[in-house]
Amino acid sequence: MLILDGKIASKAVIETVKTEVDILKSEGKRTPHLAAILVGNNGASETYVASKVKHCEEIGFGSTLIRLEENVAEKELLLQIESLNNNPEIDGILVQLPLPKHISEQKIIMAINPAKDVDGFHPVSVGKLVQGLPTFVAATPYGIMLMLEYFKITTKGKHAVVVGRSNIVGRPMSILLSSNSPYGNCTVTVCHSHTPNLKEICLQGDIIVAALGRPEFVKADMVKEGAVIIDVGITRVEDATAKKGYRIKGDVAYNEVAAKASAITPVPGGVGLMTIAGLMKNTLQAYKNRQ
Ligand code: NAP
Repeated sequence: MLILDGKIASKAVIETVKTEVDILKSEGKRTPHLAAILVGNNGASETYVASKVKHCEEIGFGSTLIRLEENVAEKELLLQIESLNNNPEIDGILVQLPLPKHISEQKIIMAINPAKDVDGFHPVSVGKLVQGLPTFVAATPYGIMLMLEYFKITTKGKHAVVVGRSNIVGRPMSILLSSNSPYGNCTVTVCHSHTPNLKEICLQGDIIVAALGRPEFVKADMVKEGAVIIDVGITRVEDATAKKGYRIKGDVAYNEVAAKASAITPVPGGVGLMTIAGLMKNTLQAYKNRQ
């Protein structure tokens, strides 16, 4: 059984980005610059943004973090985005989700210039993805594709079952796996909360991507022998014995499923790290597109 270690794969991907940045620096050129906007004080969002900024620094990207109060007006956030859209020094813009309820996420996503949409959430980016055109792919599914490539997982002709159909994970993942590309060419089944026979469908999966946000939902009796398991889930589960008072759980019951799988991603240390790698690749690409 192969552990699809996100530390190893993301390090390799990030190294390739860093090498390109080192060349830019040695030529005295400007390096890619990512701007992140964080609204409020959501603990998980703080951690994600801090990690993105840290990786920018390590790679040699410029980074700008704009922090806004929880009660910031939607109009103010839109003005911040407009300013970043117009700033020639900024290559990529991300607004950390979720946003407070009084702000329309759709409106905010639509406000980002698609040329700087390194999160790949803008309808222009998604439309290009569907048509197989070069675009920014949402960082998590992109990171998973980079992981499949790194570990040379055969996807061609396989049946992939994607559990979850969100715009940021499940839906783009299903498009990528079904696309006519080196790590695509799967037959894909997309499942969601209205799928009645989920267990039977999962049992047919040569590859299962679990992206539903239900801790340890996928159990051994839902998985066929030798399946490749990609666990996207990240849920904080309260645990008084843990230092922080919680533990991070994936959507897969790791130990029992690992015993049947041919390959599996751990949580933490799997897909989460690949998401950062995907974002860094997108930011470098945004920079290159603007040269
Ligand atoms: P989301 O927007 O809540 O979507 C969850 C999807 O799962 C929905 O399509 C939902 O179906 C489906 N679902 C929920 N319960 C189900 C059930 N019992 N059976 C079948 N389908 C079910 O979540 P998300 O943003 O895609 O995130 C999913 C998980 O991935 C979360 O744990 C999140 O924290 C994690 N995540 C991790 C990363 C990373 O970097 N590792 C990045 C993003 C997200 P309906 O559409 O019918 O409601």
